[in-house]
Amino acid sequence: MSYELNQKIRELKPYAPLEGEYAVRLDANESYLTLPPEKLGAVFSKAVQEPLNRYPDPRAEKLCRAFAGYYGVRPEHCTAGNGSDELIALIASAFFVPGDELITLEQDFSMYRFYGEVSGVTTSIFPKRPDLTVNLEGLIEYASRTGARGLIFSNPCNPTSICLEKKQVIKLVQALPNCLVVVDEAYMDFADESVLSEIERYDNLMVLKTCSKAIGLAGIRLGFAVAGELLTRALQSVKSPYNVNSLTQVIGREVLSDRAFLEECTEELIRARDQLYSRILSLYARYQLIDEVYQTASNFVYFRTRYAKPIFEALKTRSIAIRYMGDYLRICAGSKDEMERLFEALEEIFQELSGMKG
Ligand SMILES: *Cc1c(COP(=O)(O)O)cnc(C)c1O
Repeated sequence: MSYELNQKIRELKPYAPLEGEYAVRLDANESYLTLPPEKLGAVFSKAVQEPLNRYPDPRAEKLCRAFAGYYGVRPEHCTAGNGSDELIALIASAFFVPGDELITLEQDFSMYRFYGEVSGVTTSIFPKRPDLTVNLEGLIEYASRTGARGLIFSNPCNPTSICLEKKQVIKLVQALPNCLVVVDEAYMDFADESVLSEIERYDNLMVLKTCSKAIGLAGIRLGFAVAGELLTRALQSVKSPYNVNSLTQVIGREVLSDRAFLEECTEELIRARDQLYSRILSLYARYQLIDEVYQTASNFVYFRTRYAKPIFEALKTRSIAIRYMGDYLRICAGSKDEMERLFEALEEIFQELSGMKG
């Protein structure tokens, strides 16, 4: 006799981001900006005062106050998590019972389905249109017909970078009153269609935010769920008590309290994103290798090309990491140096591929 894993986890493989060391990493949508030395010093001088023999604040109150202040919401509507990944896992496991249906979209962030499946909820996939936009009426019709209990998607979307308008998201929330609508706004700092201001009006709406992208703190693992009283109380009741460690709470609090700094970083990231976008459009115009470049509302650019695999591999051999997804590539904005290295390499690679084709 030997121990057997249950069916839902038997086939799972650990999440495997691109392995190996790369000189330029543009594959994970992180901010390329690090805290400047004087800021880092200030943050750490606060952090060393933390009594590490004590548990962290289970409610992360000061941290939530700083977060709420930056985003203009009320602290009592915020729940901090160990990255928004923890919150997604928590929502999937706590807000649904076996037999409930949770709708995810395709293409979208793959972790929604992963956490749904691990927690034993039935996940279904509502496909996007061939141009990667969402058929809103179709989605509403589908969710109503199946009586789905949950719908989760990212807006702006990772990986497509396309953004639904606020009024479209609200239309979904209104049309599906018995369905928990989770809007993952991981990239909304780069766009302007947030539904954060609406959470008090709808008790089936929850918004997820992360400090891993525009805020530039992927390393400390910090995300937030923002929702009205009903959902927030439930989420706080099911979370593990000390889910956000003391150091993360202090660092997050200090950084989120500095509006001027964060707005400056976000503006710079948007400028870098715009340059990345126009340089990819230029490749699109000059070579017949890219089929479609999607509008970007995030800090990355997504495009479709039949040469995705060779482009990805050729960049890898030059120590440049981007995200390869079938017929698509996703590249996130990097520093000036990183962008120079990237486009120098891409020009070479595109010339080679054009030569082979011609
Ligand atoms: C990067 C990303 C997150 C962030 O996850 P964390 O666990 O907070 O780092 C969440 N959702 C989407 C769609 C993302 O792309």
